[in-house]
Amino acid sequence: MKNSSQTQSQENITSVMDEKRVFHPDKEFTKSANIKSMALYKKMYKESILNPEKFWGEVAGEFHWFKYWTKVKQWNPPHAKWYIGGKTNLSYNCLDRHLNTWRRNKAAIIWEGEPGETRILTYQVMFREVCKFANVLKQLGVTKGDRVAVYMGMVPELAIAILACARVGAVHTVVFGGFSAEALKDRINDAQAKLVITQDAALRRGNLVYLKPAVDKALEGTSTVENVVVYRRIPDSNISMSPGRDHWWHEIMQSVNDQNEATQVDSEHPLFILYTSGTTGKPKGILHTTAGYMVNAYLTTKTVFDLKDEDIFWCTADIGWVTGHTYVVYGPMLNGATSVMYEGAPNHPEPDRYWRIIDKYKINIFYTAPTAIRAFIRWGEQWVLKHNLSSLRLLGTVGEPINPEAWMWYHKIIGKSKCPIVDTWWQTETGSIMISPLPGITPTKPGSCTLPMFGVLPEVVDRKGKPVPAGSGGFLIIKDTWPSMLRTIYGDNQRFKKQYFGDYKGYYFTGDGARKDSDGYFWVMGRVDDVINVAGHRLGTAEIESALVSHRDVAEAAVVARPDEIKGSAIVAFVTLENTKIPSLLLKEELRNHVAQEIGHIAKPDEIRFSEGLPKTRSGKIMRRLLREIATSGTVVGDTTTLEDFSVLEKLRSDEE
Ligand code: ATP
Ligand code: MG
Repeated sequence: MKNSSQTQSQENITSVMDEKRVFHPDKEFTKSANIKSMALYKKMYKESILNPEKFWGEVAGEFHWFKYWTKVKQWNPPHAKWYIGGKTNLSYNCLDRHLNTWRRNKAAIIWEGEPGETRILTYQVMFREVCKFANVLKQLGVTKGDRVAVYMGMVPELAIAILACARVGAVHTVVFGGFSAEALKDRINDAQAKLVITQDAALRRGNLVYLKPAVDKALEGTSTVENVVVYRRIPDSNISMSPGRDHWWHEIMQSVNDQNEATQVDSEHPLFILYTSGTTGKPKGILHTTAGYMVNAYLTTKTVFDLKDEDIFWCTADIGWVTGHTYVVYGPMLNGATSVMYEGAPNHPEPDRYWRIIDKYKINIFYTAPTAIRAFIRWGEQWVLKHNLSSLRLLGTVGEPINPEAWMWYHKIIGKSKCPIVDTWWQTETGSIMISPLPGITPTKPGSCTLPMFGVLPEVVDRKGKPVPAGSGGFLIIKDTWPSMLRTIYGDNQRFKKQYFGDYKGYYFTGDGARKDSDGYFWVMGRVDDVINVAGHRLGTAEIESALVSHRDVAEAAVVARPDEIKGSAIVAFVTLENTKIPSLLLKEELRNHVAQEIGHIAKPDEIRFSEGLPKTRSGKIMRRLLREIATSGTVVGDTTTLEDFSVLEKLRSDEE
């Protein structure tokens, strides 16, 4: 199925993915998997859809409830409620629940600092620290429903802070520590935060990134913040503290006791607000609530990552993103698992830092992003081969469609052809994994996130909301609610309704384009905002980019459309070459022909631009909307608050022909 440019319908998206390449699960893996057969998955899936009261009731029954719910699910699109009438506490379920078991002495977090130090926090130690910090919150006047902004690097205190918020019923909003004072100010104001938790400075590639001074600057433009708690990461950081407002973490933690009774909150009590990464526009404050999020975070971690008590699990995401919320902190701790947290950059001091960490702690499950994998490829496999990765048994990816090239490298070089790969599709809005293989059961196809998780009813539809035939491209929607669904956009319910429920009545619209193949496997092809329409053919950016990256000289590519009088749109490809390759006119021609060969003439880029880097969000996603502006008008006017590296943009502008 290399060439399908003879599109059947308007919605069709041309495909370069090879749907015939299938990797079957290893029998040994299947034997000990948490879910042991396709038949069992299908049975459970069916029950989760047809009898949600029973299915979701049983999962939730594994938790501690101060009061049981009376009804599992209520769906009045676009408003969902789960576990109605129940009272629980997420922090209690992450911590207290394990204290009467042998797990109290198990590592909850294994942390490695960028300079190389290790800290291990057992469940019992975490419990005490969280209780203490919950008492700090109370002392500072933070109560149920108050918003708390957390602006830190990847230190265990960040996990302690959010668990303490959940414990007292405060709503945390974690702002990625790489964001500017300006971005922090906007989020504090949007959430109307009462308290900020930060640290003096974070470490990144051996440099100090000052966070507290950024907070000071942000607070010049806010009026709601009463107190700031500052964790000291750097012994002699010389930062200024404002008396009365600012408190050192280590000092204020001394004056409180280490027992704190978890606050009973309603199932639908707000848990956190998290701003999306901003690839498609101004970030949205996504609101998640307690019980549904808890149940979904727990179940997906257990099944998708096949998590066992003996496992050491490492999700490399920053807690500033939803992936870090669900799969560094909440999901693993709800399972009583050991979660690894690493503070620094993947290439510090050398590009083998991740492989060194896997070897050192004998990590079993590794979860990262395609953008990171493409960087590893660029840095070279010699860095991988220096280390023993035999402890690994399962790999995962999230964040973008993974190009088959990167999938194969991950499979062979990191997984040594023996680890299943789970390509997990989900969003900040969905709270937990929505479409993903189950390891040991689902045959995988590189580039496909395969089948829906329990309770998830995805569909690919046309503009009118009608399902399209297998193999045709369309819009990815979800037809029913699921427990960890966002409840609204904080402070803007109108935008929530319009953004997610405005296009297809009663259905949640993901904003992504996708295709379902004849096996029912989902292939996410990129944002619909990014889909390119050339002479009536709809082309997914992921497809053309995958074709480009499959060329041996190409490390990374981003494809956008520029208006064209004749064709409607012209295709512009921004291409980053492998380290040693040299840009040339000849190579441009070669790449254009390569795409034509892989997909068809229709997808041949009209223009190739070489660039040293691509504009990405802080979470590593390519910001195609900025490239689109550059390709069209040469300047950028859109929201750039979540851009990672401004110099890339400057360079792209000056490289213009
Ligand atoms: P914004 O909504 O502000 O533009 P964002 O969508 O990048 O930001 P996230 O919620 O972090 O913020 O990302 C979710 C999106 O990431 C999905 O809608 C999808 O486009 C993409 N994505 C995530 N995982 C996968 C995957 N496994 N395969 C394909 N795409 C994925
Ligand atoms: Mg999004």
